[in-house]
Amino acid sequence: MTNDKAQLVVIGGGPGGYTAAFMGADLGMAVVLIDPEENPGGVCLHRGCIPSKALLHIAKVIGDAREAGHWGVRFDPPRIDLEALRRWKADVVTKLTGGLGQLAGQRKIRYIRGRAVFTGADTLGVTGHDGTTQALGFESAIIATGSRAVVPSDLQTDDHRVMTSSQALNLDHLPKRLLVVGGGYIGLEIGTVYAALGSKVTVVEMTEGLLPGVDRDLVRVLSKRLADRFEEILLQTRVSGIKPDGDSVRVWLQGNQDEPRERRFDGVLVAVGRRPNSRELGLENTRVKVDPKGFIEVDPQQRTAEPAIFAIGDVADEPMLAHKAFYEGRIAAEVASGRNVVRDVRAIPAVVFTDPEIAWAGLTEAQARARQVQHEVVRFPWAASGRALTLGRPDGVTKLLIDPESERVLGVGLAGPGAGELIAEGVLAIELGAGAGDLGLTVHPHPTLAETMKEAADMFFGTATHIHRKQRR
Ligand code: FAD
Ligand code: NAD
Repeated sequence: MTNDKAQLVVIGGGPGGYTAAFMGADLGMAVVLIDPEENPGGVCLHRGCIPSKALLHIAKVIGDAREAGHWGVRFDPPRIDLEALRRWKADVVTKLTGGLGQLAGQRKIRYIRGRAVFTGADTLGVTGHDGTTQALGFESAIIATGSRAVVPSDLQTDDHRVMTSSQALNLDHLPKRLLVVGGGYIGLEIGTVYAALGSKVTVVEMTEGLLPGVDRDLVRVLSKRLADRFEEILLQTRVSGIKPDGDSVRVWLQGNQDEPRERRFDGVLVAVGRRPNSRELGLENTRVKVDPKGFIEVDPQQRTAEPAIFAIGDVADEPMLAHKAFYEGRIAAEVASGRNVVRDVRAIPAVVFTDPEIAWAGLTEAQARARQVQHEVVRFPWAASGRALTLGRPDGVTKLLIDPESERVLGVGLAGPGAGELIAEGVLAIELGAGAGDLGLTVHPHPTLAETMKEAADMFFGTATHIHRKQRR
């Protein structure tokens, strides 16, 4: 029993948690937010989205400077001041997380720096930064504890040169030869950063292509460029052993058919996925259910099997993306405040912030085929976009999946610089149930990459201006 009782307690201060806490406070609830860091931000701000994007921006600048050589402007090779780079990245993170701390204060949210464990269906034990534990009761609780990197047992070692994304983003050293295990989001984004800063990057991916699950025509645009930037991309390959040895790390690589072969690297990034933080939360003291992958099971209101407890973000199902956590945080806080709302999303966009960026939303072509959804695909090649040519990037593509009967946009895919910004129009189109005609009749500014959305929509009718395709009807 405790006299200290919160109306709403949010466990975890990442994108899901701080959004839920802010929404709860905005709706008039007395909110407690608990997280081990000095300020909210979670993985995304402290060691995920934000630091990686700050470094990817630098990688883009370096890449653009190199490409300018093709247009007659030559720069000297970059001289990297790692210390200054780290300071700049840390500054971005501190500004944002400090800002969140201030926003929490302005909303009168009680922020406890610590870790929470459920001791019952309406009580927590909160161990503070100073090591003392206090009891805290609650009317409603939102679990937003996020996820952590998976490190398979045959890749585990204490050696500092074998890193997860968190360590890699610290940029403690620049390995001459970096092995990236996993050709997913993290492997390709952080691999891009290290390659731009001068490391020779080898990627091993166990499936037959990079970014499994993403439509191949989009990935192809990226793979072509990465083939130039990276030393090697080894598909259908796993790491079967790892052994730090003197001034390098010995690694055994195993292809599908071959015997393991030994290689040496100066650093290894393990990026083979993340798992939800649902253990060590005392959930056994509640009725909250966890699925075999460790995700907390929730209903469309983000409510767990324990009616007063909600779960959101990475700990509550895939995709593990910050904007999904933002969305779910608001839903859970609204429901906890008494509003009768449900999760209702047609498209959660995904963006890989490499160069080119890959972005998609709604139905992918692979999903449409697997689920036998009637669809027509239109692909507008950026070679026909004036803007893409001014940027020297004719290799991009914008594609739409359209329902041939209703003419509604079912899915959008993009590969090219700025794809992460362009996809927002596609998300809105899907959410609003827009038809290809709506996109085609919308006047887009010229010359922009956004026009490729309109032209792709016009292609569906066989009337795109800058490409000739047979009339549809
Ligand atoms: P988290 O951000 O993981 O926050 C959970 C918080 O809960 C943490 O601060 C944790 O310390 C705290 N916590 C855990 N247990 C307890 C406890 N018992 N008590 C109190 N607090 C606890 N997503 C994107 O959408 N775009 C990107 O560009 C992007 N880039 C990424 C780059 C990297 C390198 C990584 C690793 C991830 C990236 N992601 C990106 C994914 C994104 O970071 C996550 O989807 C997002 O952070 C999930 O938010 P969350 O609120 O669920 O949890
Ligand atoms: P991921 O699931 O994106 O990619 C992991 C890759 O590793 C897969 O391609 C998988 O086939 C491969 N793999 C698994 N085991 C392997 C092995 N033993 N050897 C070789 N390859 C192996 O996972 P991630 O890159 O670790 O990222 C985790 C999650 O974080 C992402 O799924 C995403 O939800 C989130 N994230 C998002 C962004 C973004 O939005 N831009 C950026 C980074 C991370």
